[in-house]
Parts: sequence; structure tokens; C-alpha cells
Amino acid sequence: MSAAKTFFITGVSSGFGRALADAAIEAGHRVVGTVRNGDACREFESRHAQQPGRAFARILDVTDFAAAENIVPEVDASIGAVDVLVNNAGYGHEGIFEESDMDALRRQFDVNVFGAVAVTRSFVPFMRRRRRGHIINITSMGGFITMPGIAYYCGSKFALEGISETLGKELKAFNVFVTAVAPGSFRTDWAGRSMVRSPRSIADYDALFDPIRTTRRERSGRQPGDPRKAAQAMLTLVDSPTPPAHLLLGSDALGLVREKLDELTAELSRWEALTRSTDADDI
Ligand code: NAP
Repeated sequence: MSAAKTFFITGVSSGFGRALADAAIEAGHRVVGTVRNGDACREFESRHAQQPGRAFARILDVTDFAAAENIVPEVDASIGAVDVLVNNAGYGHEGIFEESDMDALRRQFDVNVFGAVAVTRSFVPFMRRRRRGHIINITSMGGFITMPGIAYYCGSKFALEGISETLGKELKAFNVFVTAVAPGSFRTDWAGRSMVRSPRSIADYDALFDPIRTTRRERSGRQPGDPRKAAQAMLTLVDSPTPPAHLLLGSDALGLVREKLDELTAELSRWEALTRSTDADDI
């Protein structure tokens, strides 16, 4: 194993966060994991009681932006410097655009974008001064491809992809890496208890959306991706001396992203003449 690192992972109560925390601790690393209540806090620490000094729980709702932005000094003083930040906490909003209100959009961005940014803002100065660190933002294949019924979710993950890639360019000179990890469909609680579904109200969308909603419900728990394998992949990622800006997880994500890249390239070519027509005459 490589040198032991200290991870800070948001949302370790289930899914990717839990799987990554377990795998990291098993591999000899230390994990500060955030959860949202005292029971989950005790569960996380007691689950790893056999490996003392490796699992530390903190209560944090990432939409408590003030708490998120100030998390580092306490962690630094009581546990030590964090080497790897994983912005994992997030959820999916599902709903046809016209049926989904502004509150649903705000909430989706509060958690998936503003929450992740608030936590990151806390860590960046420390990692920059230390000239060391790796920030992993769990985005989604939905941060690059889209499908009907998840406009707000895709919007939030596109936003996090953009922030992540830009931040990576700003921090590269300080030996701080930023990777957007974009999973395909995995067997977590994402499409189950965690998903927020706007109610249906407009029959015009039945033919398009009803099969999508039904299929997503039915496939929950039987998706192609295994979160334990995702956790191992992320441990491989943090071991790399040259981590990428983007990492897809899952062959479904790879296929769909490649398909979109091909479509995008073809579309760019089809419209190339019009695109070029706007350049000033003196360039
Ligand atoms: P999950 O099993 O539902 O886990 C979500 C985690 O996020 C839970 O620990 C949850 O805590 C936490 N969380 C939610 N809202 C929070 C908030 N406001 N503050 C703090 N923690 C919060 O689903 P998952 O699939 O592992 O999700 C993890 C990340 O992967 C998300 O960002 C998700 O969008 C992304 N992702 C998932 C998939 C997939 O197919 N599973 C694909 C692409 C991307 P509680 O237990 O307290 O609710």
C-alpha cells in the first residue's frame, strides 16, 4: 500500500461515500466522514472500532454553508491535515422541467453545487499553502450527457464539472489536483430513498417520461455499477502521481459519453460554417 493518507468524505452513511470510507480504512488510511445525525455518527465510528484511530465522524449538512466553509480548522487541529477531500454528498432530483418548481431547483443546487463548493472553499487555502492535496468531486455521467426528466440534476452536475475543471487549472501549480469523478448507474440509494421526485401533472409528457420513471424505480438496486468497485477505483485514482481532471466510472458511462462526443463532433461540423461566420474581418 502507498503511504497512509487522511481523507475527508462527505456523505458516508450509504452508497459511494460509505463504500469509499470502508475501502480507504481497510487499506490503512484515515477517514473523516460526514453524516447528518448522531445515530449515523455512532454507526460510522463503531463500524470501524476494530481499526482504532482510522474513522472519525462529523455531523454536517452541506447546505449549512457557514459550517461547511469553516470545517477545516477543527478537523486540522483535532485529527490532522487532510490529503484527499471527496465531495460526495448529493442526491438526484427527478422531474419533467415544466412540472418541477423553483424550490426543487434551488434545493438541488444547494446540495450538489453550493454545498460542495462551500466545503471545497474551506479546504483550498489549506491545501494550497501545504502545496499538496487532491480534491475529488463526485459528479455524474449526467454532468456530460443528458436525458429527459433530470434537467435540474444534470444542471447541477454540469455546474460542478465546470467548477471542478476550472479549479484544477488554478491549483495545479500548487501540487493540488482536482478530479471530477463521473459515475454511471450504480447500486446505491440514489434512485431509492434519496431521490426527490416531482409529482406528475401534465399528461402531454406521459409517453416520454412515464417509462423513464418506471424503469428507474424498477432498476434501483440492479444497476450495472458496484460501489465497492468504484471505491477501489478511487483508491487507485488517489495513488496516481498524475490524476486526471475527469474520470468516468462504469462501462455505461463510457458508452454514453462516447456517443455524445461523436454526436457533438458531427454537430460542430454540420454547423461549422455558421459558427465561423461571426469572426471579425480583421482577425
Ligand atoms: P446515496 O446512497 O443516496 O448517498 C448519498 C449520500 O449523500 C448520503 O450519505 C446522504 O446522507 C448524503 N447527503 C445527501 N444530502 C446531503 C446533505 N444536504 N448534506 C450532507 N449529506 C448529504 O447515493 P450515492 O449514489 O452514493 O450518491 C453519492 C453521490 O454520487 C451523489 O453526489 C450522487 O449524485 C452521485 N452519483 C450517483 C450515481 C448512482 O448511480 N448511484 C451516479 C452518478 C453520480 P443521508 O444518509 O443523511 O441522506
